[in-house]
Amino acid sequence: MQPLIDYARSFRQRTAARPEEFARLAEGQSPQALFITCSDSRVIPSLITGARPGELFELRTAGNIVPPYDPERPTGEAATIEYAVEVLGVTDVVVCGHSHCGAVGALVRGDDLTAVPAVRDWLAHAAPRADGTKADGDPAIADAVQSHVLAQILRLRSYPYLARRLDAGQLRLHAWFYEIHTGTVLAHRPPADTFVAL
Ligand code: ZN
Repeated sequence: MQPLIDYARSFRQRTAARPEEFARLAEGQSPQALFITCSDSRVIPSLITGARPGELFELRTAGNIVPPYDPERPTGEAATIEYAVEVLGVTDVVVCGHSHCGAVGALVRGDDLTAVPAVRDWLAHAAPRADGTKADGDPAIADAVQSHVLAQILRLRSYPYLARRLDAGQLRLHAWFYEIHTGTVLAHRPPADTFVAL
């Protein structure tokens, strides 16, 4: 932890090289996209995209799961999505899964999660695709994660205010898959229903 504290302590000096950029942030934010990804420490959205402060609105959850739309039970995830789209007017939403994902791995292996009941109950929201996906011995579990990402995209489409914007052509959804061991980012291409390098 100490290296993190030391860096944070000196961070203000680091911003001194770009004082105008940081001062402008006090005026508000107008992010280019809502970036939904896993809480995994190996996935750094601003590193992958080159986003500067103010450019990406982030939602990070275990396994980049988007919970079901339920207006009766507000969640932090739903609040983040709603704020991004309804208040900030974000027009692009990325769901980015990643290789070697512990959450998706636990799902495809059917791990016993009784010792971590919050994780177990959260992963129950994962909404696996109807065709299902097996681990098939791939340590990167690429196929499983990619199916899982598409399931979360479908979940987003079920949010009424997102569906409205999608129908009106005011919102775009992007399904991405990030290989943590190579840095490669793939995107889902609907015509061929495959993930290909960006
Ligand atoms: Zn993960």
